[in-house]
Amino acid sequence: MSEQGMPVTVITGGAGFLGSHLADYLLAKGHSVIALDNLITGNVANIEHLAGNKHFKFIEHDVTEYIYLPGPVDYIFHFASPASPIDYLELPIQTLKVGALGTHKALGLARAKKARFFLASTSEVYGDPLEHPQQETYWGNVNPIGPRGVYDEAKRFAEAMTMAYHRFHGVETRIIRIFNTYGPRMRPHDGRVVPTFIGQALKGESITVFGEGNQTRSFCYVSDLIEGIYRLMMSDCAEPVNIGNPREMSVLQFAEEIIRLCQSSSEIIYKPLPEDDPKIRQPNIEKAKRLLGWEPQMDLEPGLIKTIDYFRELKEQNLI
Ligand code: UDP
Repeated sequence: MSEQGMPVTVITGGAGFLGSHLADYLLAKGHSVIALDNLITGNVANIEHLAGNKHFKFIEHDVTEYIYLPGPVDYIFHFASPASPIDYLELPIQTLKVGALGTHKALGLARAKKARFFLASTSEVYGDPLEHPQQETYWGNVNPIGPRGVYDEAKRFAEAMTMAYHRFHGVETRIIRIFNTYGPRMRPHDGRVVPTFIGQALKGESITVFGEGNQTRSFCYVSDLIEGIYRLMMSDCAEPVNIGNPREMSVLQFAEEIIRLCQSSSEIIYKPLPEDDPKIRQPNIEKAKRLLGWEPQMDLEPGLIKTIDYFRELKEQNLI
């Protein structure tokens, strides 16, 4: 506990899309938050509204290096990682390092501080899945040497390392497998389907559907995800839990939805499907419902409208 009797929480990747939303949520719950980020994909603009908040501290730090923090720590959320396919293609070594060395350092900090540790893992551990929808018991279908392998294997290693610290050192750990999540503060040019399609639709550019667009994804609004993260951290479940929205749609349907909601006249064009792009993805969330009493509350349309409004503002400032 901090001097004011507040829980002290560290978020690695605290200036990223999810890390910054989590910081907002935890501050509102009365935590004192320390955000660590090396800013290679994070952005201080995501946390600048917290400048001056005496319960929030930002430290620019690469968590693959030793993490030194004086004082007590109660909770550690390990969210640092490039997370979009383009990012991890451009930053393959950093992606592997933060999943492996960064997870090791963050777990070491948890052990030293007797803090509870939370790993942000991913639906990518299921690879191009042969089971549908994906349940936590599924071991996945990952190509270790393909272009996405750097992310998938880093996160699989991170899960293994987390369970080892749990079993061998008795560290209290939690693992979330995050499915596609969207909302304000996504990076406009991270190449992911949500910011890409919205940016294209708002600028009247062609919408680039990869392949024939019949691959599927299931999109969860960020506030639902953050609620699931908090409930999982406060639960006693050490095994992985899927959090995502089971509403599944094809990428082509998604493109049409974005065009409609942006009232755009953009046309759809087709580009080659990236290597190892998963053909289907939908979370089975029975475990989260049962153990956490959690399920998503935000429908796709209102969630997308909030996200489109955010990107519209960026466009007005010439930031996209
Ligand atoms: N996608 C697309 N056009 C784009 C960007 C992405 O058709 O301009 C597709 C991509 O091939 C994938 C899906 O949208 O099937 C989701 O891609 P994203 O990069 O958001 O993340 P993923 O779910 O693959 O990790």
